[in-house]
Amino acid sequence: MRSKVDVTTITSSFLIIGTFCHSYSMTSSHWKILSAWSKAGIGTNVVLELLPLSAVGPGRKKMKSLPRIAFDMGATPCFDDAIPAKYVFLSHGHIDHVGAVFSHARAHSVSCGGEAPTYFVPADLVPHLEQCREAMISLDASQMHNSNGGRKESLIQVNFISVKPGDEFILKGIHSGSKTSFFMRAFQVDHCGHPALGYVIGSRTTSGLKEEYQSLDNATLRELAMSGVVLQSDPIEKIEVAYTGDTCANGLKLDQMRPLSGDASEKSVLYKQQLFQAEVILCELTYLDSSEEEEGRRRAAERGHLHICELERLFMSNESNDDTRFDGPVESVSTCVLDRQTKHIVFYHLSGRCGPATRALDMIADGIPRQLHRRCQVAVSSLLTSDEKHSLGRLIQPNGCVSLMAYLAWRGRPK
Ligand SMILES: [Zn+2]
Ligand SMILES: [Zn+2]
Repeated sequence: MRSKVDVTTITSSFLIIGTFCHSYSMTSSHWKILSAWSKAGIGTNVVLELLPLSAVGPGRKKMKSLPRIAFDMGATPCFDDAIPAKYVFLSHGHIDHVGAVFSHARAHSVSCGGEAPTYFVPADLVPHLEQCREAMISLDASQMHNSNGGRKESLIQVNFISVKPGDEFILKGIHSGSKTSFFMRAFQVDHCGHPALGYVIGSRTTSGLKEEYQSLDNATLRELAMSGVVLQSDPIEKIEVAYTGDTCANGLKLDQMRPLSGDASEKSVLYKQQLFQAEVILCELTYLDSSEEEEGRRRAAERGHLHICELERLFMSNESNDDTRFDGPVESVSTCVLDRQTKHIVFYHLSGRCGPATRALDMIADGIPRQLHRRCQVAVSSLLTSDEKHSLGRLIQPNGCVSLMAYLAWRGRPK
C-alpha cells in the first residue's frame, strides 16, 4: 500500500516538473530566447532567434536560416550562437558587455559574409568604440612581411549606430511573413553615471483593410484610395522583448521619471513604460541577498545595479506615487504592475558570489515577490557546478535558463 502512494506522489512530482519544463519555452510572439549567459563582471550575452513561420501561423514555408539578434556582446559561452546576429544592442561600455564585439564582427564576416553587423551603441560611447575599431583593424591586418602576399586587410567590419534615449530604429531586413516588421526603442537607465541604455524590441503587423471596406470590389477600392481615403486599419504593435542592460532600481522606476523637457526625454520615459508591457522582460539582478536589506540596497545603488529587495517596488507598486501605500503589510496593498501579456521575466547578471546555481535560485525564491514566481526564469548557467548540471538535468533549458516554478517543484519533490 505504502509503495503505491509513494509511486503516485513521485510520479505526480515528476509530472509537475515535466509540465514546467515543457510549458516554459521562452518565446514572445515572434522571438525565442536562444541562449542567455551572464555573470556580473564576467560576461553577458543574450541571443534571440526569430520563430519560424510555422510556429507563428499555419501553412507557411520554412525559412533557410532564421534571423538572430543579440543583447550585449561580452565574452561568454554563447558566442557561437551569437555569431549570425546581424543586430546587436549594446547596453553600455563595460567590457563584460562589449568585450567580444570585434571578435563577433570578424566571426560574422568569416561565417556569414554579407553586410557588416550593426551595433547599436549609446551615443557617448561611439568615439571610444571607433578608437577600438582602428586599433583592432590594425592588429588584425598586421603583417610581418608586406611583400609576400597574404592578407593586408582586416576582416573586421562593423556598423556602429549612435543611439540616444528615446530613439527608435526599424530592424531592416528582418520580417516574419510579408506583414510583420520589427523595431527597437531605447530608454535611459541609471548605471552609476556610465552612459547606459535599455531596449525594447517590438513588432508591427499590418492588419489589412478596415472592416467597412472589406466587401468592396477592387475598382471601388482603387477609387477611394485615389481620393485619399485610408483603407488600411492601423498596424498591430506588440512590445515583445525588453532588456534593462545594467541599471540600479532608480533607472527603472517609473514614479521617479519626470520628463524634463523635449520630445526625446518624453519618449524615453514612454519606452521605459513599455518595458513593463513586454511579453518577455530580461531584467538585470545582481544582488540576491534579501536578508541584507538597507545596506545591500545602498551598495547596489552605488554600484549601479539592482538589488533583489527593490523588485517589490519596481514590479508591485510602480503605478502608485502614494507613500501611504507602504504602510502595513505590503502583500495586502500591492498588485503586480506587469501586463497580462508578460509571460516571462528573466533575471540575468547574477553575482558569482551568490553561486552555486541552486543557492542563487533559493535566494531568488526567498527574495522576489511571490506574484512574480510564476513568470520567473533565471539565466543561471554561469553558476552551475558539474554536480548541479547533473542533478538539475532537464530543468536546465537549452538556452541556459531555469524556471523558478520548475526548480521549486524539483526542490520539494520527495527525496
Ligand atoms: Zn555588467
Ligand atoms: Zn556595467
